[in-house]
Amino acid sequence: MSKLPISETFMSIQGEGREAGRPAVFLRFAGCNLQCGAVGRDLDEVNPQEDEPVEGASWVCDTIDVWREPENVYSPGELMDEFEARGWDGILASGDANLILTGGEPMLPARQEAYMRFVGKFIKRTGERPFTEVETNGTVKPTKEMQWKVDQWNVSLKLSNSGHSKEERINEEALQFYNQSSKADFKFVVSDASDLDEIEELRREYNLRREKIMLMPAGQTREQLEKMYPRVVEMCKIEGYTFSPRLHITAYGQQTGV
Ligand code: SF4
Repeated sequence: MSKLPISETFMSIQGEGREAGRPAVFLRFAGCNLQCGAVGRDLDEVNPQEDEPVEGASWVCDTIDVWREPENVYSPGELMDEFEARGWDGILASGDANLILTGGEPMLPARQEAYMRFVGKFIKRTGERPFTEVETNGTVKPTKEMQWKVDQWNVSLKLSNSGHSKEERINEEALQFYNQSSKADFKFVVSDASDLDEIEELRREYNLRREKIMLMPAGQTREQLEKMYPRVVEMCKIEGYTFSPRLHITAYGQQTGV
């Protein structure tokens, strides 16, 4: 039976995207099919807080050290027991918080199947389905069942500044699914005007809908974000894109799991 390799679970608020500010239970899956800023390196040796990005990249995935190993591997029933023990079943069933699947990459195929089994148990025990957001790099198309049971897709397509080739970071079939979905946004981390040029190229090439594009400032510290926020707001005003904050960093700096 499929299992859920989970790096961390915690309650906080959604820091990014359309649901920013909502209380949320985070389920961070271990593992990813990309290695942004650390392409070709041995993952065990990557220290995202100190390492320089590999050639061709301008940043390093800031959660690699959290998602590279699972803290726990749950069966769907064990994960449901964990939610009950923490009191998250009631909060989620009543709609007082969103459930956020993040990673790593939560859409790797075996995870989708295991997650569906978890949702089945959640509905059986509470009578409700949690409002569910998925944070994905957009390289995997969700199954039909997953499509029905997710309420918000936060699709963080990667640009060339991740160090990945276009073939590695863009899956056209998955991209077109998200582009057609009324529940999906494309969220891009931007650091300068050249990122905007690349977003515009992608938008034209794949006919991405402008109203679905969100720009989020690059930065791993409050100081860096403070400088970037006004620049990115200006970019949004000019391009007609939507601004996304990074409330986690504003509130907690580089801490994860809070
Ligand atoms: S896709 Fe996301 S989780 Fe995976 S390496 Fe890139 S930034 Fe990190």
